[in-house]
This record gives sequence, structure tokens and C-alpha cells, in this order.
Amino acid sequence: GVPIAPGARVGILGGGQLGRMTALAAARLGYRTVIFSPEPECPASQVSEMTITASYDDRRALDQFAEAADVVTLEFENLPADALEALAARVPVRPGAAVLRISQDRLAEKRFAQEHGVPTADFEPVDSAEDLAGAFERLGGPLIAKTRRFGYDGKGQVRVNAIAEASAAVEALAGAPAIAEAVVDFEREISVIVARGGDGALAVYDPVENRHENHILRTTLAPADLPPGMADDAREIGRRLAEALDLVGLLAIELFVARDGRLLFNEMAPRPHNSGHWTLDACPVSQFEMLVRAVCGLPLGSAERHSDAEMTNLLGDEAGDWPRLLTEPGACLHLYGKTEARPGRKMGHVTRLKPKAG
Ligand code: AMP
Repeated sequence: GVPIAPGARVGILGGGQLGRMTALAAARLGYRTVIFSPEPECPASQVSEMTITASYDDRRALDQFAEAADVVTLEFENLPADALEALAARVPVRPGAAVLRISQDRLAEKRFAQEHGVPTADFEPVDSAEDLAGAFERLGGPLIAKTRRFGYDGKGQVRVNAIAEASAAVEALAGAPAIAEAVVDFEREISVIVARGGDGALAVYDPVENRHENHILRTTLAPADLPPGMADDAREIGRRLAEALDLVGLLAIELFVARDGRLLFNEMAPRPHNSGHWTLDACPVSQFEMLVRAVCGLPLGSAERHSDAEMTNLLGDEAGDWPRLLTEPGACLHLYGKTEARPGRKMGHVTRLKPKAG
């Protein structure tokens, strides 16, 4: 198709730091941006030409947004499908509602992965304590029960160590539709980010290792230190799922490297991802610029890594360390413009570069 040329306005659904960094990348290529967010004064609106502050089901506000934007993308996937469909009737929305429907539902995304030959931990849908007890018998314990929708940073998850814990677990999830999955004995958690253009072109970043603390990403190591062939396997999973989704945009896939050597799909998100922040400083084209290029129909460019990198999130008051970080040689500091440093809140990140080892 005809590219959406620099000078056009990119609409971003969601106003957090992922939207902010996407807007900055868009601006660097000469685009204007408009943010749609229910939160006033959000990190993305600080760096964007326009913001529409409204709830995602406000039809008039969505119309205004569609009017202002030449193309719409998203930084947040828990959007109502109707909102996306209403927008898609007026402006290209990339990725589209069909991708969201799968990726916002843990059951749908795991089935999708399996249908495309990508293994996952064993799982079952669970809508009641009886279902969960049955899953425990069939899969064996321990299990992790997760709500199908709206989970993040370990929220909407509960570990089930014994069958007797089934009803408490379902209560802890407030009876929400859930899946129960076998606990994976993993050696590492990794992720891979792939971009796909409307013409089917693909660009894949190096798989990285992610280390969490209290269910929140703490550090990403780029590249992941993996056994021979596994990085290629992870990239291939990325390409396969992006193609199967007919994705236009970015797809981040989180995987477990099991102790028995298997690579297991955990979840995916069709947007920029915290585990891709290192690309801002260690790649010629960052994940954010890659997203802009993909949704605007530009050449994707190179996802190659020119340096090794270690990205650390600055959580809560850690961002107050900025004066020291600014003096640290080789530290690339990114702050998100958030005023309230609640404990665990992602306030910024720092990427430390090292010469590329291999
Ligand atoms: P998720 O929201 O699915 O990414 O899960 C959050 C974190 O919980 C993961 O990054 C893992 O550290 C852990 N986790 C989730 N599912 C499993 C599993 N099936 N086995 C072991 N650990 C898990």
C-alpha cells in the first residue's frame, strides 16, 4: 500500500511510558501524535501534540480521535473490542481487533500458540473450584491459576499447591474466568520481539533474558545466553506467530526455557514491551521506531544489535537516583515524567551498554 508519510499524525491508544516512547520515536521521524487515554496528564501526552482524555467506550471521543489520526496503534491491549471496531471503520488500526481478541485472553493465546506448533505448559480452562480441582488431578500439581483477562505484573494470579486450596484460589481470583497451568521448572525467562509490516516484511530482535522481582521486570539482559540453536528457535516462534496473526505492528512473546531444555510459550503482547527498552540504545532502529515504521508502511530497517545491553527498571523512588545515573559512564537514562513515585511503579529505566560479545 501507499505509506503514511512523515507529517501525518499517528494515534496511540494508551498514555503510559510505552506510548510516550512510541510518540518520541514517531516525532523523530517527523510524525505528529495524538494520544487517547482515560488518564489526564499521562506520560505520553507530555510529549504529544494532542491528547484526548476519555474512557475507551466514549464513542464521541473515539470519533474525534479517528478524525485526528491517520493511523492508529496501541500501547495497551486491554481495550474493548467495540472501541477498536468503531475506530477501524474510520481509520486503519494496526494491529487490529482480531489480534487483540487473541492476545488479551490467556486461554485464547495459549491455544493459538499450540495450534501453530508452539508448545506451552499444560493448561486447562477453569471457571469454578470444581474445574480447578479437576485440573489439579489431570495435570498434577502444583498449578498456577491466572485470570484469562486483565492480569499484569503477577496480578490476577495465584499458585495452587494442593487440591484443598482450589476454592480459596478461585475466590482469590474473584471467580473470574481463568486458566490453570502446570508450574514450569524454568532455568530462565526470555522474550523475543518481532515486527511485521503490512507487506509481510519481518524484523526480529535478539531474544533477551528477563529477571523479575516481586513479579515485576527488574532487568533485561541482551542478548540472552542460550544453548546453541535456541535463539534461532525463539526467533522462529516470533516469526511464525506474527505471520499466523497476520500482524501489522509489534509482537512481544515471553517464553520459558525449561530445565529439561524445552522452550515454552507463556504469553504475548501485540505492542512495545518493557523487555524491548534496551533496543532504544543498542539497536539502530528501536522497538518504538520499528512500530511506527510498521504501522505507517515504511521499510522496517534493521533490528540488529550493535551493543550488548543490560536494562534495569527504575521502580518507585529508585528514579530519584537520576543525579548519580547521569554521571555514570555508559549509562543511558530514560525517565517517564511520572510525578507520583508509588512503590513498584515504573518511573524510568537505565540501559548500560557493553561491546557486543558475539
Ligand atoms: P505472566 O503474567 O504469565 O507473565 O506470569 C508472571 C510471572 O509468573 C512469570 O514471569 C513467571 O515468573 C511466573 N510464572 C507464570 N506462569 C508460570 C508457570 N506456568 N510456571 C512457572 N512460573 C510461572
